[in-house]
Amino acid sequence: MRKNIVAGNWKMNKTLEEGIALAKEINELLKGAELKCDVVIGTPFIHLASVAGVVDAKKIGISAQNCADKESGAYTGEVSAAMVKSTGASYVILGHSERRAYYGETAEILKTKVELALKNELRPIFCIGEVLEERENNIFFEVVKSQIVESLFGLSADDFSKIVLAYEPVWAIGTGKTATPAQAQEMHAFIRKTIAEKYGNEIADNTTILYGGSANPGNAKELFSNPDVDGGLIGGASLKAADFKAIIDSF
Ligand code: PEP
Repeated sequence: MRKNIVAGNWKMNKTLEEGIALAKEINELLKGAELKCDVVIGTPFIHLASVAGVVDAKKIGISAQNCADKESGAYTGEVSAAMVKSTGASYVILGHSERRAYYGETAEILKTKVELALKNELRPIFCIGEVLEERENNIFFEVVKSQIVESLFGLSADDFSKIVLAYEPVWAIGTGKTATPAQAQEMHAFIRKTIAEKYGNEIADNTTILYGGSANPGNAKELFSNPDVDGGLIGGASLKAADFKAIIDSF
């Protein structure tokens, strides 16, 4: 059966010292806890190795928030999937709407990043989601489907089964406007059906589909209680250990 996951996305927040302190605090809160989901923290690149060194790897997985679309070489400022893997990270967030919007990440670039992540044994947490205008124009199903098809449907069934999806309606990210549980469930069911049509029911049933967009301790339980919502990708609320723990405890 598919795993439930609560994954934090710290984005570009926290100095190294602050990040290590937050990771230690989360680690401390999870000590002795009976977890009903996997926990992942997505840190800036420079925190990865240090954070991996202070958390219990049996309880907390580490994720990068991006990786390069090239293997290695003269790409100043880039960080490859192999480098991410070498820090102790086991996941990488790819296709976040902020990277698509501000850094021009196209479906084609993301396809390459996914392939390189998988080649380096990193599990992509692949983000998809429509902007407000696309929701208002009633084209959100088509938009999300094409994001999946264009970047992921070239994968073998074996490789696809390593992907975690995160449905993040862009209008809900960092805005305090959460999708209603019904809107989240409707889209998650559609995503699972789309996967089933390509890879069959077994792979679709085993795919973890996270919800992201202003999830917090007050709304997580209701969101996670939907049959096709398998956890969350959490931005703002993952920067406070107690809030992150409360979301984890919503399972
Ligand atoms: C995100 O950026 O992945 C996210 C879900 O952010 P927030 O929870 O702050 O809306």
